[in-house]
Amino acid sequence: MTSDIAADCLFCKIVAGQVPADVVATSKRAIAFRDIAPQAPLHVLVAPKEHHGDVAQLAAVDPALLADVVALADQVAGEQADGQFRLIFNSGPRAGQSVFHVHGHVIGGARLGWTPA
Ligand code: C5P
Repeated sequence: MTSDIAADCLFCKIVAGQVPADVVATSKRAIAFRDIAPQAPLHVLVAPKEHHGDVAQLAAVDPALLADVVALADQVAGEQADGQFRLIFNSGPRAGQSVFHVHGHVIGGARLGWTPA
């Protein structure tokens, strides 16, 4: 689904300031806020301010906006850690997506293992 704001979308409400979040950075079209259940020393979510369901949908309709989201991830990793990061987009419930407003998990601040499954 693609629209500026989706009803009953948690991350649209964070963008609108209706749900609190620890926002660490914003750009014109994207927002970065700390995950409430961090899995690493740096665990920030980066998302477009407008609503798109998952990363493939976003890439299909607005690749420049996906590039903005990735650029914000790089900025946050530089500001909050050593600039090195993993960027994870869970896409679909079986992949672990639980919030259906596209977001990347910016993971860093430590040497990372590699055991996703
Ligand atoms: O990839 P997935 O959709 O599961 O990621 C959603 C993430 O949103 C979770 O890591 C969860 O901890 C985070 N979250 C949050 N703030 C909320 C609700 C969920 O940071 N208010």
